[in-house]
Amino acid sequence: MQPTLSSSSLWHPYAQMQTQPPAPQVVGGDGARFHLAGGESLIDATCSWWCMIHGYGHPRLTRALKEQADQLCHVMLGGLTHEPAQALADALVRITPPGLEHVFFSDSGSVGMEVAMKMAVQYQVQRGRPGRHRMLSLMRAYHGDTSGCMAVCDPEEGMHSLFAGFLPTHHFAPAPTAPFDAPPEAVAGDIAALRGVLEQHHQEIAALLMEPLLQAAGGLNMTSPEYVRAARALCDEFGVLLIFDEVATGFGRTGKLFAAEHAGVTPDIMVLSKGLTGGYLGHAATLATGEVFAAFLSDDPDHAFMHGPTFMGNPLACRVALESLAVFEEEDYLGRIAALNALLREELMEDDALHRDPRVADVRVLGATAVIEVSDAADLDGVQAFARQRGIWLRPFGRWLYTMPAYITRDDELRAITTTMKAWFLEARDATLP
Ligand SMILES: *Cc1c(COP(=O)(O)O)cnc(C)c1O
Repeated sequence: MQPTLSSSSLWHPYAQMQTQPPAPQVVGGDGARFHLAGGESLIDATCSWWCMIHGYGHPRLTRALKEQADQLCHVMLGGLTHEPAQALADALVRITPPGLEHVFFSDSGSVGMEVAMKMAVQYQVQRGRPGRHRMLSLMRAYHGDTSGCMAVCDPEEGMHSLFAGFLPTHHFAPAPTAPFDAPPEAVAGDIAALRGVLEQHHQEIAALLMEPLLQAAGGLNMTSPEYVRAARALCDEFGVLLIFDEVATGFGRTGKLFAAEHAGVTPDIMVLSKGLTGGYLGHAATLATGEVFAAFLSDDPDHAFMHGPTFMGNPLACRVALESLAVFEEEDYLGRIAALNALLREELMEDDALHRDPRVADVRVLGATAVIEVSDAADLDGVQAFARQRGIWLRPFGRWLYTMPAYITRDDELRAITTTMKAWFLEARDATLP
């Protein structure tokens, strides 16, 4: 048995505390693996909710943190500045799609999205369109767990339907259905549906928000760059801002540094978080174009952007984010992601037996993301324990068994992940379960 620390003083996320078995205790990690008390070591197929893109214990990232800690751990950004925050803002402006020129920091993806939505509403007010105070979101969207974000998550299948009476109401367009490589005519229906909602409600819509190309927590729904381009054109036509939530897709997950690049589109506002610091500290960036920023410039002090998280621009977070970016560029992570993609395709897309399994509804791969979708969530009951016996940490949700590995995951480690995912379907399960 593993030694576990289990006490209900620690309340776990999304967990039924009455029935959840004691959580394994992580004591360290290196590369794609984390280590448990008791000596077990698991390859993390999820890179910890998709943020530990360099894996665990990366020497350059931990050194950057230590050096920054010796200098300055924190100072407020209200009325003060410091080099790590300025350098990170400059770096993000350099690497993000052209036109995004201003960076507002906060401390998590949800807050980054709250900032984006407030920015869009205040923008519309200060441009003389105060009636535009709602968002347009997509079904199957996930944008975070805070109140404002819950209100723009999928209102039916999302995990927040319980809070319906508490939340403001927004508009929703159907989730896009055309896959990543769909020909333009196959995307026309998705685009027409989006246009329909905008035609009807644009007068009250401040912004359209979307996770471009990959609706992540809503079921790893992979959609077409054509749809993203059409969304840009429709927003321009109807005077609606376009917000890209690249919290999950940013920093290489879809195969390019940002998903927006697949479509050659610049949103008005873009939010980054998960991979920003390589997962080593919580932080987020909300980027805006010069046009959005200009709406806040005025002789009237009340036109300033009314937001300011205590820990925005934390020097440790900014320093480790800068180091993360340097490693990403110097060590050709995009090349590495392409190699992971080829391997995921070979292992999962080209496996006929997997596709023939009656439980499997779909298999999809985009960048360093792969998912096996089943028709019935019960078909994944027990897969986590099954994987752990084989040294793999998988954490499926709903009908989706997925991997989003750290980019430093070696080929043999990635094969161990995909082999385990397939084995769940293809091997006699009863023989292997305790
Ligand atoms: C995880 C996630 C968020 C929320 O980020 P937190 O840091 O957990 O608040 C928002 N949007 C997307 C697309 C995400 O995947």
